[in-house]
Amino acid sequence: MRLDKNENPFDPPPGLIEELRLSLSSLELNRYPDQEAGTLRSAIAMHCGFPAEWISVGNGGDELLLYLVMAFVPYSGCLMTLSPSFSGYDHISRALGVRTRSVSLGFDGSRVFLDEEKFADAISAASPDLILIDRPNNPTGLTISVDLLSRVAGLTKGILAVDEAYVEFGGGSFLSEPEKLPPKVFVLRTFSKAWGLAGLRVGWGVSKPDLRNRIEKIRPPFNVSVFSQEAARVALGYSEWMRARAKRIAFTRDRFIEEANRIPGWRALSGSGNFVTLYSRGPVEPVRTAFDKKGIRVRFPEMGSLSEYPGTWVRIAVGLEEEMNAVLDTIKDLSGRL
Ligand code: PMP
Repeated sequence: MRLDKNENPFDPPPGLIEELRLSLSSLELNRYPDQEAGTLRSAIAMHCGFPAEWISVGNGGDELLLYLVMAFVPYSGCLMTLSPSFSGYDHISRALGVRTRSVSLGFDGSRVFLDEEKFADAISAASPDLILIDRPNNPTGLTISVDLLSRVAGLTKGILAVDEAYVEFGGGSFLSEPEKLPPKVFVLRTFSKAWGLAGLRVGWGVSKPDLRNRIEKIRPPFNVSVFSQEAARVALGYSEWMRARAKRIAFTRDRFIEEANRIPGWRALSGSGNFVTLYSRGPVEPVRTAFDKKGIRVRFPEMGSLSEYPGTWVRIAVGLEEEMNAVLDTIKDLSGRL
């Protein structure tokens, strides 16, 4: 069971596969891709209600994150993130040698939270060039309110990038009111999670055209392949399928959180992604061994500021009902030994 990468457990709908099979014969694979990704960007624009001139596309959301840091954090500039947050941010800032100021999340034994005033003070003190916030936060599931992020957008002199990789599973979007998207905000989306197309590597972003143009200056022209552009475009025709599957995953997630919280010794953090992070005061090794023995791959994430809490943190992707039951059985078995 693969529950370590926050993947979607469902196969793409058969209609999508059939459409792709048919379109494969007409794709010009001897040609470079459309460097503007025009058809795909227009389809994304229709899907999200923003003009195509506002849409950037990348080889996965990961690639757009890299370009965001390259475009907006100058040499000796400052990137601000939460601690913990998506491991990709750390990877990028290390690779580029970017100075990072991270704002610690708090934990009260059952709930993760962000001290809003501390966040505001950190912005004033560090004056970051780019603030990168995953919403919900990976790995804690914390979903910062749109109101707070709007305040942050008003407060910062730099750019605010809101990473909505998991938005389809709940929690509301920064993009829900197009006319209200602030000029210095970039919102990131992906086909990897709710769309169930992680292998395709397509991510997209929405921002005012002047921000997009700065990313365009960095983006290699042929970053998204002919096949990926076509497949992502076709996938957008299956948004009802995607929404129904996302709803089902959210339902499984909520039931899992409820049941895990009934198991002595374990705390499941509430969250709006397709993953749940569990906390126990016990040591990590027995937990690792128990999951290994059952062949369930889970993630023991880097917890940044929260690693000062003694115990074990395990991040579980929300899979099928039976997979989640296997996880519940595993932590139930462990609970007497913690
Ligand atoms: N943002 C967050 C918060 C993530 O967790 C991930 C992947 N796990 C990504 C972005 C990148 O996703 P992808 O590159 O597959 O689009």
